[in-house]
Amino acid sequence: MHQRRSTFSNIIKKKCPRCQQGDLFLKPFNYKDALAMPDHCSHCNQKFEPEPGYYYGAMFISYILSAFLFLGIAGVCILGFGMSVNATFAIIISLGIVLFFYTARISRVLWIHTTVKYDAQYE
Ligand SMILES: [Zn+2]
Repeated sequence: MHQRRSTFSNIIKKKCPRCQQGDLFLKPFNYKDALAMPDHCSHCNQKFEPEPGYYYGAMFISYILSAFLFLGIAGVCILGFGMSVNATFAIIISLGIVLFFYTARISRVLWIHTTVKYDAQYE
């Protein structure tokens, strides 16, 4: 029996929301199948794609996360450092490419955490 993690810690570690034990993504990470997830949790057998197209909603979360992150970075670059708009766009596009898979994965994790709740029975 393990101690229950906080939801935030569970999201950062990309663990199953129901049991907090199984991994939501296949390991090790590779760019070819960066968003590949197992069909079921290895620990509690929770389905990770309850219905076809389940993760379309995660795109909205990804959009919101990216928009706030990049707006903040643009504000700091332009207002804080006095950079040009072109240089700011170059930084934002570079960061967008580098952080794409991380943002997409975190969005999926957040999405599944909105519908699947922790259940101590499955620890
Ligand atoms: Zn699980």
